[in-house]
Amino acid sequence: MAATQARLSQRALAGLDVALRVPCVFIIDGIFNSYYDSPGSGWGGTAGRTLLRVLGVLAACVVLLLSQKALFKFYTLFLAVVVGAAGVLINYHATAHLDLYSAYYKTALGFRLLPRSGLTLWLGVAAVQMALGVGYIFLLKLHSVLAALVVVALMAPLWGLVVELPGEARQLVALGSGLLLALHMAGCLALRLPCCYYSCRYVYLLLRHMYRIYGLQLLLEDTWKRIRLPHVLRLFWLTRLAAQALILLYVVQAVRKEDTAPADAQGGLLSGEVVWEVTSNLIISGCDSTLTVLGMSAVISSLAHYLGLCILLFIGSTEEEDKRLGFVAPVLFFILALQTGLSSLEPDERLVRLSRNMCLLLTAILHFIHGMTEPVLMSLSASHTPSYRRHLPVLLVSLALFLLPVVLSYFLWNQYVLNTWLFAVTAFCVELCLKVLVSVTVYLLFMVDGVYGALWEKLDDYVYGVRSTGSVLEFLFGVVMFANGAYTMVFEAGSKIRACMMCLHAYFNIYLQARNGWRTFVHRRSAAQKINSLPEASGAALRAVQDVCAICYQEFSGSARVTPCRHYFHAPCLRKWLYIQDSCPMCHQRVYVEERPAPPAPPQAPPPPGEEPAGGGGAEQPAAAQQEEIGDNDSIEYDEEEWGARSGGGGAAQEEQEEQYLDEQEESD
Ligand SMILES: [Zn+2]
Ligand SMILES: [Zn+2]
Repeated sequence: MAATQARLSQRALAGLDVALRVPCVFIIDGIFNSYYDSPGSGWGGTAGRTLLRVLGVLAACVVLLLSQKALFKFYTLFLAVVVGAAGVLINYHATAHLDLYSAYYKTALGFRLLPRSGLTLWLGVAAVQMALGVGYIFLLKLHSVLAALVVVALMAPLWGLVVELPGEARQLVALGSGLLLALHMAGCLALRLPCCYYSCRYVYLLLRHMYRIYGLQLLLEDTWKRIRLPHVLRLFWLTRLAAQALILLYVVQAVRKEDTAPADAQGGLLSGEVVWEVTSNLIISGCDSTLTVLGMSAVISSLAHYLGLCILLFIGSTEEEDKRLGFVAPVLFFILALQTGLSSLEPDERLVRLSRNMCLLLTAILHFIHGMTEPVLMSLSASHTPSYRRHLPVLLVSLALFLLPVVLSYFLWNQYVLNTWLFAVTAFCVELCLKVLVSVTVYLLFMVDGVYGALWEKLDDYVYGVRSTGSVLEFLFGVVMFANGAYTMVFEAGSKIRACMMCLHAYFNIYLQARNGWRTFVHRRSAAQKINSLPEASGAALRAVQDVCAICYQEFSGSARVTPCRHYFHAPCLRKWLYIQDSCPMCHQRVYVEERPAPPAPPQAPPPPGEEPAGGGGAEQPAAAQQEEIGDNDSIEYDEEEWGARSGGGGAAQEEQEEQYLDEQEESD
């Protein structure tokens, strides 16, 4: 109970913290969006206004960056000043304009602000002043004598009215009370100035300290989290949108009232056209500056985050939280907006550009969702869980990931003529479809393997074939996208950000992709070569062992590979193991020793053709073709011959083999 209360109050404090920082963003946005109006006021006027704008932005930034405690203090002081000023203004107004005995006051807005009769008016004003005085005292935490003095000063002009002092005396009293309060306020502020200075200095020193110890990146991250910037930006954008929506609706209503005859003015509901107009206007003005684009990104971030969570929940992923989608989607949106100069476009163009960016963003998000579903799909296929309730959601998501891009590109091709943007979206869509096909095929291969039961020697090769085809296609798409980007850059819109993004794309999607693909290929090739260098046991030798493969726990049906440490494994099982590490899974001895100085070769009988390594049937030819590229070819051949020749021997020969191998181990170590 207490814990929930504490959590609730903490949440309320956090909400208040965010809400209090939002006005600063509004001020900064307002200053950046306002234009220099009267240009005729000369050079000095312009300089003064510029200075004022810079000061305004600086002050807003400082308040935005304050710590929570300092922020609350600042707002308390600010509120106290507002309350005091309101009290003084009411006093001044009452003295100058109110006649307490025949008051009947209508403001410009049409509300009847003050009561009609004198007595209630008097009481009403007294109550308001009393409340303001108490608020002022409370906010500034004044002591008893000072508090009484403040209330007296605030109420004095009213008493002057009640006892019907002559006009000039009343004005004098009001002026005196106002001056007194102003003096008090100034005194209070002056008293707090050193405190404010010290807290600012403290924050500055703290920041400098953190910068020196942790560096800029951590400092920025910490500040980002401390002031809850995404929340602030989101609240800023949503409030701005809501305010604009209200204003627009009000204007629309007013125009309708003027336009239509009074008879059908009761139409009430807005037509679809008006709704579309209002919405598109709102969207256009929702990204009219860098700050609003940031706010929009923050909103997209939370949407993407919840979308990611829903999908993880739906496909039953074991990951508790999704952090990537909520981070990548807004960053991508922001970069796209910067790259296309979204906020500086004309309104009509901006809407078009925004919808194009959104299409690109959608395809990117779909790619990410594929990245989320693929591990789940793979783990399901590997675990051989028969439950349909686990497989079905993942397969449904995969189907959706295949169909959505198809529908999207079909729709877009029907609507637009080909340009670089449409080309990029289509390429993204096709790439996604291919990726989905690859992962579903691999999934099906594994599932078939599960049903099949026995050891499927070629499975690994098939999986690798499908995957590498997918990777090669992905690489080609990366190159095509790069060419598309280069074309856009040269002939349509070149910018520094686009150039940076192209470099990043070239590095991550082309260079890294190619490097990883090549590494995997080399890895597999060398693993295949290592396997082929091991002697093969079959027939009688294998029956004598009477064991199962220690990797898959299945019996040796056809043949097995023998490691130097006399352990038996299926060739495909051992090969998979060798992709990961070079030692025997049972005893951790090196399976394969490289870089040995070739000893004077003893005359050896060539291995009988029937005993030729079976697993190397497919891999032999490429291995032979690529032998010039590998430095350690000689030792591979040597091993192959040596083990091929000796594996046929009996028990004594095997022991001898083992000893010799151990000796060699020690030598090479
Ligand atoms: Zn096995
Ligand atoms: Zn071993």
